[in-house]
Amino acid sequence: MRRMNPSALDLLQSVFGYPRFRGQQQAVVEHLCAGGDALVLMPTGGGKSLCYQIPALLRQGTGIVVSPLIALMQDQVDALREAGVAAAFLNSSLGAEAQREVERQLLAGELNLLYVAPERLLTGRFLSLLERTEVALFAIDEAHCVSQWGHDFRPEYRELAILHQRFPAVPRIALTATADPRTREEIVERLSLQQARQFVASFDRPNIGYRVGLRHNAKRQLGEFLEGHRGESGIVYCLSRRKVDDTAEWLAAAGIEALPYHAGLDAATRAKNQKRFLREDGVVMVATVAFGMGIDKPDVRFVAHLDLPRSIEGYYQETGRAGRDGLPAEAWMIYGLADVVTMSQMIAQSESADERKRVERQKLEALLAYAEATGCRRQRLLGAFGETYPEPCGHCDNCLAPPKTWDATVPAQKALSAVYRTGQRYGSGQVIDVLRGEETERVLSLDHHRLSTFGIGADLDEKQWRSVFRQLLAAGLLEADAEGYGTLRLTAASRAVLSGGTPVKLREDARPERGARRRRDSQLVVGGGSLGIEAYEQSMWDALRALRTQLAKQLGVPPYVVFHDATLLAMLRALPANEDELATISGVGEAKLKRYGRDFLAVINAPG
Ligand code: ADP
Ligand code: ZN
Repeated sequence: MRRMNPSALDLLQSVFGYPRFRGQQQAVVEHLCAGGDALVLMPTGGGKSLCYQIPALLRQGTGIVVSPLIALMQDQVDALREAGVAAAFLNSSLGAEAQREVERQLLAGELNLLYVAPERLLTGRFLSLLERTEVALFAIDEAHCVSQWGHDFRPEYRELAILHQRFPAVPRIALTATADPRTREEIVERLSLQQARQFVASFDRPNIGYRVGLRHNAKRQLGEFLEGHRGESGIVYCLSRRKVDDTAEWLAAAGIEALPYHAGLDAATRAKNQKRFLREDGVVMVATVAFGMGIDKPDVRFVAHLDLPRSIEGYYQETGRAGRDGLPAEAWMIYGLADVVTMSQMIAQSESADERKRVERQKLEALLAYAEATGCRRQRLLGAFGETYPEPCGHCDNCLAPPKTWDATVPAQKALSAVYRTGQRYGSGQVIDVLRGEETERVLSLDHHRLSTFGIGADLDEKQWRSVFRQLLAAGLLEADAEGYGTLRLTAASRAVLSGGTPVKLREDARPERGARRRRDSQLVVGGGSLGIEAYEQSMWDALRALRTQLAKQLGVPPYVVFHDATLLAMLRALPANEDELATISGVGEAKLKRYGRDFLAVINAPG
């Protein structure tokens, strides 16, 4: 699609159907159009793609997009074609014939955008092809793949500096959602982006609500949580494959469209489940962390964690898969003492002078601090990435219902001293028995009933003690052994508590509320879920979604390639009567208006 010098804003409206730029998009677009290099750091869902797609359309030649995820290219290219953009991809999934055709289009200057896998880009053949082509820009997506320290390390990414040497006049833009300043430095260095202007957005995801709770009965708690998300897409993360299978089975038996995903399933099953998650509305994926890299489904309404993830970054990345479309979404997590012991063990294991381990340790500690926080979660989360969020956010669980704290200095002293007296060789179960004065066989056989600490903690019940131990571990006042037996030991910080120098304040763990389920039900319109669809709107909403699914099936694309939830929701609220009104809705560009306008208007204006 070549036009007579349209402005960036014209393209945003006519091609993508959006009325205005978001955040720093416009500044990035202008910088690239003027020939500058850019490094763009924006959270997931921030709108990174438009930062290079629009300049590629505005500048002469083809925009070359390097993307590490073959599975994603297809969907991205489908979505662009739906919007009327001449886009294609080159990767190993194409047959020889199809590859030659794409190369022909490239040389003939027929493409606005070409997505290519890094290993393909770096071949001599492709580079010389590029030398005979007019290149509008190079976009390096998921640029954090250059980082050897990250989970997504891709060695070929390190070779991409060659683009700068071979094509010095072509502007380059590197993009990532990784907030870590260390990674940013690595990208600059590895990709020779020292001259690039940096655009760093806030990593806040304002549409995500954060909730963290203690695990009492995982299934019941998950069931109650999902009641607020009926018919919605979401991801439930578990630590182990077994738990994934078990949870998925249980949910399916409860009538929820739930599918498992983990590395232990064969490739065909994984691909099939992933496809259903992407292509159907309202599928819940129960998964290990093996799932998610490159899932850019925009309408994931919730991400649930049934175990603590392995680091604050992992948590941010995983929860970040919710709500890419900007509509309300929820990040929900439950965890227990056992998770904290495991974490503490991992921290102990990583106790080494080496820089990398020190960083890992900080990330683990940051996650524990986040989970146990009594203040605003958002402030904690962003704080872990060096960002200051000025005021409490007002819509995380701690802001909505500030947890009560209590002075636990004396119980903490008792707990630490019981750990010490039993020789720092036991787990919390045994130490709690000693504190509570339980004459169990083990206590008697170990002579623990003769200790001075035996029975000094009978005033708290077992649950309260578990809460105390969990929080002492999380606060680094106790640590678990590196060997993995769950043995507790004092730390350097424990002394100050034992001597009475440091007071200890702990949060009062909320008790699982009876009847909580009933109350929630009456607050929620059934099916209302996160998007707040009212009962009277439900049938229209269902009809719009059904039409979208039908069109998507015909085209063989995911439903969101036809229209996003945000666009359907805007239709539902505005009820456009004709094409002119439909065209004003965000997400309805010229090509889509022409293709789908009539069908959607027919549904909206159907009698009854
Ligand atoms: P990222 O790659 O940063 O995760 P995307 O580029 O996929 O984000 O954009 C996230 C979502 O926001 C997409 O659904 C996209 O269509 C939408 N979006 C991007 N820019 C705008 C805008 N200016 N106005 C409205 N929606 C936008
Ligand atoms: Zn908050």
